[in-house]
Amino acid sequence: MTLIEEAKQLLGMTLTPEQDAQFNIYQRELADWNTRMNLTAITEPDEVRVRHFLDSLSIAMVMGFDPGDKVVDVGTGAGFPGLPLAIAYPQVSVTLMDATAKKITFLEHVANECGLTNLTLVHARAEDAGNDPAHREQYDVVVARAVARLPSLLEYMLPLAKIGGFCIAMKGETAAEELVDSKRALYMLGGEAKPIEDVTFPQIDRTHFLVTVEKVKKTPKTYPRKAGTPTRKPIGF
Ligand code: SAH
Repeated sequence: MTLIEEAKQLLGMTLTPEQDAQFNIYQRELADWNTRMNLTAITEPDEVRVRHFLDSLSIAMVMGFDPGDKVVDVGTGAGFPGLPLAIAYPQVSVTLMDATAKKITFLEHVANECGLTNLTLVHARAEDAGNDPAHREQYDVVVARAVARLPSLLEYMLPLAKIGGFCIAMKGETAAEELVDSKRALYMLGGEAKPIEDVTFPQIDRTHFLVTVEKVKKTPKTYPRKAGTPTRKPIGF
């Protein structure tokens, strides 16, 4: 199946030929740059489509986006899940954040090649961005995939969310146990977890879990702690 067909069938999402072309450019540049730097273990086109593009877009199954919404992807790496979301939702303003400069260089290149105008690229650690007024409590939705265990990840994500905004962590089989371990972090950071949703694509034999947390209270000024501390000493451990 093509990406347009799969997005429609699996996600109920309509992509235009222009958006499809942007995904093709992204896929091409990912494979090309990956020969020179370590961006992804997945480069085979079918695998990229399913495990990067559709996986990223599956966030749309639990979260509606309104025009003008501000989304940040923390630890975006080669752009997942934020860049596919930016392509699919041109009216949403997407910030891609990563601590590694060369990943940001790659993302700048893709953004230019695709002609994306709704992207902002930020080279920063989440702990520093979370204490910077330009980013702290500025986002409607904060997303992340494969960055850290949830008790640490929430300290990266929740400070960036507005009150009433949401954090969505893409997780594998360990989602439920990571959420249990996050009880203290949720309490301290002002988050309230929603029921975990599983996203299953039987056609392509994929399941993953989306952990959604609503930001219900302001995060105290003491969080996030300084860079490295959230993973070295997760809240509650
Ligand atoms: N989200 C992408 C990349 C996962 S790899 C995907 O699912 O494919 C983890 C990425 O998070 C790396 O690019 C790393 O540089 C970044 N990262 C790890 N800790 C971070 C932090 N504290 N702040 C910002 N980026 C971080």
